[in-house]
Amino acid sequence: MGKRLSGKIAIVTGGASGLGAAISRRFAAEGARLVIADLDRSRAESLAAELGADGSEVAACPVDVSEGPSYEAMVSFATARYGIPNIIVNNAGVPQRYHVAHEVDEASYDRLYDVNVKSLYWCAVHAIPAMIENGGGAIVNTCSVSATRPRPMNTWYAGSKAAAVVTTKALALEYARQNIRVCGVNPGPVDTPLLADALSGFGGANEQAIARGKMAEGIPLGRIAQPEEIANVVLFLASDEASFVTGVVVEVDGGRAI
Ligand code: NAD
Repeated sequence: MGKRLSGKIAIVTGGASGLGAAISRRFAAEGARLVIADLDRSRAESLAAELGADGSEVAACPVDVSEGPSYEAMVSFATARYGIPNIIVNNAGVPQRYHVAHEVDEASYDRLYDVNVKSLYWCAVHAIPAMIENGGGAIVNTCSVSATRPRPMNTWYAGSKAAAVVTTKALALEYARQNIRVCGVNPGPVDTPLLADALSGFGGANEQAIARGKMAEGIPLGRIAQPEEIANVVLFLASDEASFVTGVVVEVDGGRAI
């Protein structure tokens, strides 16, 4: 059986860490020609070098997905290197440190929406026109279970991810006739640096461990996910196996959204 992404050109934003790194690993293993795009250039370069060591076609590209010219440069880089992208995973995101809503400063609020939501606008502006000309493509957006099951102390993050969910569905409708599928995933808590960063708002190591424990207790499967468990679903949605799937945002949350 052929590899599941053979012949595909893919970009994974935030592709150097956590969920994005797991997605990058799966995509490279499944034969995609891959651009790992990340704010952290050196981490993206070292992962690209690691994944390319077996001859896989993997390149790194620095990007700040919240900025239009930067998003555009990322798409141009991928196009010049491999061709028009068939797959874009808008995965880069930032957390809200766990604070009550009125204690989150304006700059943090703006950053949440610029990275978690405005990046989807830049994707539409800078990637979708070429995808249309190319006959279609697949976009997968990393949203969050917070969009449908918000917790206290995470209000603005939840709002940004809810916007990402609705945007995913609206874009799916908008571009279905151009053969562009737009899907998403709603992960529950996943063991990544972002989760550690978010939990740091709870205080010291003890408080953080208690918060982690409560989080796991609230998940029917009784644990926090590993990044690979989300990457498996993203791979399916991005691949031709999901050719009749669009506008869905799959809960990958151990049952938390039930
Ligand atoms: P992470 O912090 O491990 O990785 C995020 C990556 O995105 C980093 O490499 C970072 O450099 C990059 N990044 C951040 N801002 C960027 C920007 N403006 N432009 C380009 N790259 C940028 O985080 P993660 O846990 O892997 O999160 C990935 C996605 O999953 C995010 O959208 C996050 O909101 C979402 N998510 C995470 C969890 C969780 O529990 N970890 C749960 C639900 C959803």
